[in-house]
Amino acid sequence: MAFEGLADRLQGTIKKITGKGKVTEQDVKEMTREVRLALLEADVNFKVVKDLIKRIKERAVGQDVLQGLNPGQQVIKVVKEELAELMGGEQSKLEVANKPPTVVMMVGLQGAGKTTTSGKLANHLRKQKNRNPMLVAADVYRPAAINQLETLGKQLEMPVYSEGTDANPVEIAKHAVNKAKEEHYDYVLIDTAGRLHVDEGLMDELQNIKEAVNPDEILLVVDSMTGQDAVNVAESFDEQLDVSGVVLTKLDGDTRGGAALSIKAVTGKPIKFAAMGEKLDQLEAFHPDRMASRILGMGDVLSLIEKAETDVDEKKAKEMEQKMKDASFTLDDFLDQMGQVRNMGSLDEIMNMMPGAGKMKGLKNMQLDEKQIDYVEAIIRSMTLKERTDPSVINASRKKRIAQGSGTSVAQVNRLLKQFNEMKKMMKQMMGGKKGKKKGGMNF
Ligand code: GDP
Repeated sequence: MAFEGLADRLQGTIKKITGKGKVTEQDVKEMTREVRLALLEADVNFKVVKDLIKRIKERAVGQDVLQGLNPGQQVIKVVKEELAELMGGEQSKLEVANKPPTVVMMVGLQGAGKTTTSGKLANHLRKQKNRNPMLVAADVYRPAAINQLETLGKQLEMPVYSEGTDANPVEIAKHAVNKAKEEHYDYVLIDTAGRLHVDEGLMDELQNIKEAVNPDEILLVVDSMTGQDAVNVAESFDEQLDVSGVVLTKLDGDTRGGAALSIKAVTGKPIKFAAMGEKLDQLEAFHPDRMASRILGMGDVLSLIEKAETDVDEKKAKEMEQKMKDASFTLDDFLDQMGQVRNMGSLDEIMNMMPGAGKMKGLKNMQLDEKQIDYVEAIIRSMTLKERTDPSVINASRKKRIAQGSGTSVAQVNRLLKQFNEMKKMMKQMMGGKKGKKKGGMNF
């Protein structure tokens, strides 16, 4: 993730102080110097760093710490709290209109990820909040933008309101909101035009749309890979439009990302969502405290649990549990479980949320295991239905055929079958011992 470099450095610094039974002023001084360097190196705004360090110092040297059980840990707590505060403190939720629909205007520079984020947000609202959103294509200058949104709409099976490229964006927005009222959509997400740079024409148009539809939210989409520019862009948009929140995109990117951390401090506007990949489910509500935890290597167990809860299909989990109990779990079910794990996102992404996982460098190679999942899927897909239900029929010649069909080797097929048998044995034991209270689909 984008904060990886920052996280590495901060975690190193923190390790030095965590176990300390006594923290001297000198310790705090050294630690804050390192934190300061790490933040600057990650491209956090200079003034923001200065203020942050001042606050950490005041609190860390103060009585807060000196009377604690483990002063080292208390210092870390201060750093974490201040880092969270820097990113906005409390989670800032999406406004909801008193009377539906809630109108959300998506604004930002071209390429920031507006269109993609509109689709992701619509998906998030439906999946996590059970809402019924409508997307609106109001970027009439780039025909590709309309097509792109329409494609996203198809993928999500969600309506996209468009009037083509000849219509006026202000009119499009007005008509769309009226239509949403008539047809009882509860959210209208307006994908507006972007430019390569902030310019007057663009701002005028956005202001006109704002006046016409009186949005409940104006979300500024910011590419976190653009460094300090992201902060400048945020300032300009905010001056002109008084935005209500920020969405950080491309946090999965390999950049320092620190500029993004400065946006709240500089503009005063909260970060509401963070996008961590190109896929439609890679948008998360932004929780400053959890993000601070993640950066400091304390993990983000809460987000992990939320992810598991929304991504794992309850009904399927129940069916699976029954199958485990009566030992009728087949390779087909195994394949299904794989799919569910995959739905949760990349293993790498999941690992980043686990406490201390960042430190266990070996785990970074978990990517490899995704390849293994690919192989397992390919192998099972090359089996006949009978073979999947009753693997005991798989003899040597069948193994050869399966290996050929899946582009793997007989050894790999053997390994999978062995693992499957062991897993089945284990399930039997588990289910025999306990009254199956296990939740979720991850229990293989
Ligand atoms: P727009 O011009 O602001 O509408 O930007 P788009 O939505 O077309 O996005 C520009 C590019 O950034 C596309 O290739 C997206 O797939 C990509 N993109 C958007 N969000 C993310 C993200 O969170 N992570 C990554 N890696 N790519 C993203």
